[in-house]
Amino acid sequence: MNDERKPKIKRIASTKSMGLLMRDYFVELAEAAEDPGRKVAWCTSVGPAELLRSFGFDVYFPENHGAMLGSARMAADLIPRANALGYSPDICSYLTSDVGAFLAGVSPMTKVDERIKGVPGPDVLVFNTNQCRDVQDWFLWYGRHFDVPVIGVHSYAGIGDVRDLHVKSIAGQMEALVPELERISGTKFDIDRLREVVGLSRRCSELWKEVLDTASARPAPLTFFDGTILMGPAVVLRGDSRANEFYETLIAELRQRIDEGEGAVEDEAYRIYWEGMPIWGRLRANATLFLENRACVVASTYCNSWIFQDLDPEDPFMSMARAYTKLFIVRNDEFKERYIDEMLDVFSVDGILFHDAKTCPNNSNSRYGMPERYVEDKGVPTLVINGDLNDMRLVSDEQMVTNVEAFIEQLAERKDA
Ligand code: SF4
Repeated sequence: MNDERKPKIKRIASTKSMGLLMRDYFVELAEAAEDPGRKVAWCTSVGPAELLRSFGFDVYFPENHGAMLGSARMAADLIPRANALGYSPDICSYLTSDVGAFLAGVSPMTKVDERIKGVPGPDVLVFNTNQCRDVQDWFLWYGRHFDVPVIGVHSYAGIGDVRDLHVKSIAGQMEALVPELERISGTKFDIDRLREVVGLSRRCSELWKEVLDTASARPAPLTFFDGTILMGPAVVLRGDSRANEFYETLIAELRQRIDEGEGAVEDEAYRIYWEGMPIWGRLRANATLFLENRACVVASTYCNSWIFQDLDPEDPFMSMARAYTKLFIVRNDEFKERYIDEMLDVFSVDGILFHDAKTCPNNSNSRYGMPERYVEDKGVPTLVINGDLNDMRLVSDEQMVTNVEAFIEQLAERKDA
């Protein structure tokens, strides 16, 4: 196919307003870090952001910064700096690229606006180990560097049903953070303010789910690759009404695409579920690869991980605890397979791509027989790709192309049979 006839990635117009919103958020963080009257809290991406916002903290998410470093393809040069401090090349490459960037004094945020000089110095770092232990170690490094408190919640791992005992334990740990947060922020805890933020966050979740659910239409109006960009406000601005306003605009645009029968992938023929982390340094290349094969990656565990339907302003601590414990990553394989089964059904999926990210075993679900079970027990074609979220030295572009094309051929043969 000559270049002129090659299908092009269709830009979602709302991405522009999202860029402005994210810029404003980064600038506000930079201003907060310079203003002695304001306090900055660093938070893990599925940490208790609502609680921090209720105290008036400006909340910064290092994982978002890690993803920016990956997308900007800066990570491979920076990771060795963290390795030199004893942080292994095998641990989370968000952690190593982020610490490496800090040591090098660089950040992609500085390119967003000249008022941003780097990451905003923290007054406190707050983690939740619901994703992995790496986030705690990551924050402890910065806690030592800035000499500020590192506090957090220790979550369960590998659980099936979420029981009251789990929820009460996590809610209790969150409530126990309150006195320290009052001390650091200089603000008295206000349950009504927390209810308000939890309500906004819940609404953000509903809207984000609505965005992702539009991809159940055939053709789907957006792809997983669009979703990884559009999820920014759901990650860093949940609990802030501006995120909700953005998603309302985006939903209107996606609904219009559905009404007009306009798919994100021209002549969409195959629908794929992406299990695992994005490959941040190859988003565009991978989006193009699927596009050229008339395949749409319609749904993913990753983008769905910021849907917190259990948040309830009437019962803020218990509902935050439930929402942050019900996460896919916290659950056992039996639950995960039930969850994926439902996704395959809702999104009319033809096959599953498992990304085995070398430095994130926590978000790689291909290591204990799941792809094989899907093929053998459920007759669902699967493909396992070896790669990484940020460390592009662990990604083989040739293998990705060859394996994805072979997988699509396999899907085509099944359709023709
Ligand atoms: S879940 Fe994976 S990518 Fe996320 S912080 Fe933990 S190790 Fe890193």
